[in-house]
Amino acid sequence: MKKYAVLSMDVEDWYHLDYFKKEECDQSQSTLDGLDIYLDILDRYDIKTTFFIVGELVEVLKDKIKLIQQKGHEICLHSYAHQRPLQLSPEDFRKDTLKGMHTFKEYTDIEVTGYRAPCFSLDRERLEVLRDLGFNFDSSKIKFDAHDLYGRMDLNGFEEFNSVVYKQGSFYEFEASTVEVFGKSLPVSGGGYLRIFPWALTKALLKKYFKTNQHYFFYIHPFEFSKNYNIRIPEKTDFKTKIRFNQGRKSVENKMHKLIKLLKENNYSFVTFNQIMKNEG
Ligand SMILES: [Zn+2]
Repeated sequence: MKKYAVLSMDVEDWYHLDYFKKEECDQSQSTLDGLDIYLDILDRYDIKTTFFIVGELVEVLKDKIKLIQQKGHEICLHSYAHQRPLQLSPEDFRKDTLKGMHTFKEYTDIEVTGYRAPCFSLDRERLEVLRDLGFNFDSSKIKFDAHDLYGRMDLNGFEEFNSVVYKQGSFYEFEASTVEVFGKSLPVSGGGYLRIFPWALTKALLKKYFKTNQHYFFYIHPFEFSKNYNIRIPEKTDFKTKIRFNQGRKSVENKMHKLIKLLKENNYSFVTFNQIMKNEG
């Protein structure tokens, strides 16, 4: 059985993170240098993957986005302004998504057909909006018991290919990888967990996951690789959030190399979501 890994990146800046209020952030500071650091890592291992990009960054990043596409990566939408879809009405969600699609078309001539919701915040009603707008796939599903930001998605009528790939007609839903430990779902897919968990723990969880899963879906953000370690975050930010934002940022690059090597040792091929859709037929 062929095994596939998608090492996707959600391209947003530090002030898009849900735990900051964007309007209180000094947006002249950026962590988008982390995008280049990640691209260098991908080049080094000749890995192609999927980038979900926030629409309001497209004008600034337009030349880089075209370069990313030329390198063979897949370009998708991560909302227009990084608002959680479940906090928008379905109509406002449609408007936000259309604005994102039009922005890509205008500045890069790219027609985006894949979507990931900010904070994995998507339900069936909004999923149908995406399908109606012509998207081929979504990757906003995650199983996580202990996190209130994440939405629950009803996939009634979808065929379950395996524990993380679902299909209805020609539309696919890809679920972020989690592993069951003592009856609880723990994410093994997120950059935040790669940063914060010691590598030995991540490795143990991944080895458990690899035993039963043909697909591994991972996501990370530019700020996690950024060398801009002295971002002045809003003064009111509580201690826990400061720790959550900064913890492990200096170690993540090293851990990323370890993750890639571990995936290779376990015979995973690195692909985009689109390639998985093509392979599954
Ligand atoms: Zn995001």
